[in-house]
Amino acid sequence: MIAAGSGDRCRIGVFVCHCGRNIAGYLDTAAVADYARTLPGVVYVSENHYSCSEPGMKEIGRAIREEDLTRVVVAACTPRTHEPLFRKTCADADLNPYLFEFVNIREQCSWVHSKDRAAATCKAMDLVRMGVAKAALLEPAEAIQVEVTPAALIIGGGVAGMTAAVSLARRGFPVCLVERKQELGGRLHDLNLVYPVAEKADDLRDRLQKNVAKYEKIEVLTGAGVTAVNGFIGHFEVEIEQGKKKLSRTVGTIIVATGADVLVPEGMYGYDGHQVITQLELEAQLRAGTFAGESVAMIQCAGARNQERSYCSKICCFTALKNAMQLKTARPEMPLYILYRDLQTHGLKYEAFLNEAREKGIQFVRYSADDPPQVAGGVIRVRDLNLNRELTLAVDIVVLSTPLVPRHDTRELSHLLRVPVGENGFLLEAHAQLRPVEFATDGVYICGAALWPADISESIFQAQAAAAKAAIPMGQGLVSVEPITCQVRPELCRGCGLCEQICEFHAPGLTILQNGTRVAAINEVLCKGCGTCAAMCPTNAIVARQFTDRQLLSMLTTALRDWHAPAVKE
Ligand SMILES: Cc1cc2nc3c(=O)[nH]c(=O)nc-3n(C[C@H](O)[C@H](O)[C@H](O)COP(=O)(O)OP(=O)(O)OC[C@H]3O[C@@H](n4cnc5c(N)ncnc54)[C@H](O)[C@@H]3O)c2cc1C
Ligand code: SF4
Ligand code: SF4
Ligand code: SF4
Repeated sequence: MIAAGSGDRCRIGVFVCHCGRNIAGYLDTAAVADYARTLPGVVYVSENHYSCSEPGMKEIGRAIREEDLTRVVVAACTPRTHEPLFRKTCADADLNPYLFEFVNIREQCSWVHSKDRAAATCKAMDLVRMGVAKAALLEPAEAIQVEVTPAALIIGGGVAGMTAAVSLARRGFPVCLVERKQELGGRLHDLNLVYPVAEKADDLRDRLQKNVAKYEKIEVLTGAGVTAVNGFIGHFEVEIEQGKKKLSRTVGTIIVATGADVLVPEGMYGYDGHQVITQLELEAQLRAGTFAGESVAMIQCAGARNQERSYCSKICCFTALKNAMQLKTARPEMPLYILYRDLQTHGLKYEAFLNEAREKGIQFVRYSADDPPQVAGGVIRVRDLNLNRELTLAVDIVVLSTPLVPRHDTRELSHLLRVPVGENGFLLEAHAQLRPVEFATDGVYICGAALWPADISESIFQAQAAAAKAAIPMGQGLVSVEPITCQVRPELCRGCGLCEQICEFHAPGLTILQNGTRVAAINEVLCKGCGTCAAMCPTNAIVARQFTDRQLLSMLTTALRDWHAPAVKE
């Protein structure tokens, strides 16, 4: 028996995609299509070579109109990439886009069962049957429209923050740039020359500062910090403290450009800040012209790529090459060693520096992570893996190449903005490939070393990308928010507040009614529809739209009750 969601006629169309050989190469799509024809409510079935291609989408649109379909099921790849496309195809054919159901028979079927064609075909049939059962109960929905204040907040005034500010101001948007320190510039204040262009860090910083100053639309607040952020995309209410002043601003979008800390290698290789220093400390001495060492050894991966910090910080190999080459250029006779595990010099330019460094006579010694160099009294003992020999190097300065690490206050910022932190402690973007420089929270973007160790050019690219993304909703003035959210049925709510506590997006809030009872309500613009609160609510007061109990139970029931192993050709 099949029930139509809103009491309407239920005419379901099923479209089985081959995805070239990605699906059709590993399961019998013709058998899946034949099976779909037998399912209740299904009035039309077709197979497409590529459902997401122009002909594939035209066929779906044609069938919706000519076959009078009221629900569409596409059995294909992943909703993460293709759901918006198929929803739009439905909308273009005048079918409410939320009467569409996506069944993943690629990532969740053909790819994972690529060695068992019969089982993969059976599973695809099961998935399609479940999708059809849910589709029958889908309800139409309308996207929520939110007005967007055309102004942005940027937190952090280093290379990334300044670049993003200029990029937005050039597009005509007012920007509030908040910098914790007394001057814009970030890490550039501490560096000597910046590679690959070998420009003085001060010159680059001055240039960026002047660029910012050119735009009246950029309000620079230095010596300031953000203390509270409320609201949602289009309308964030921001509280800022600058000394004793308390300021508030309303913005439509937020860009985070807070950079990273540099690991201080306490307790490593006899670090003392004098004979054993970091690359950052060496940069300060080179800047001030106070470096007085006669012989130098640099140790790479000091505190990186180990159990505590498994990642490669990306910038410390080229920083070592940069500083070693400067020392060697100034004093070609200086003995200079770089002790490394693997040299990570990504990109053509940094690779060229490696060759140049070799030509200048810098000596490279490869050590093993299991047998790291021993440093004592100006002598380094190390086993060179390339020569397979113990070496004893007498040097007067040891420089540790330590990684960029998450800022010490990353957790506070993550709570303030309600954005997540990844396994290495850096702020986490929504998806590295599909939604780079964006957070899962709509309207909040990220760039530069706050996201992951990055050099200056990468920070600039990301800042421009984040600004371009933030400009879209601000330029449009309106933003559509997905209506697949949760809703509270007030008559069932007991006001326990569990939903408020559990939601990481701060969408639910308790209000007190005139009769004194506490009841929850969910801000649909903030809600991501993750369903956590619905699963948690002790009185079942929360309904997850598009994932209602009725819809999920119908999928489960048909999965378990109607399961059979259809006869499938091997
Ligand atoms: C030793 C060393 C040498 C390097 N050499 C090079 C090089 O030669 N070439 C190169 O391309 N890259 C180099 N880098 C990398 C370079 O420093 C980074 O790519 C760059 O600084 C990243 O810029 P950013 O704006 O993301 O962060 P940052 O420069 O760190 O700026 C972040 C800013 O945000 C501010 N901030 C932080 N939190 C808040 C908050 N809550 N509120 C307000 N403001 C806040 C900070 O005060 C800071 O001003 C080097 C790095 C190191 C450590
Ligand atoms: S960039 Fe080089 S020194 Fe830094 S963590 Fe990676 S391999 Fe080690
Ligand atoms: S968890 Fe349920 S009962 Fe408790 S406040 Fe939220 S909606 Fe109401
Ligand atoms: S569905 Fe998720 S995002 Fe929405 S209110 Fe519930 S817990 Fe928060």
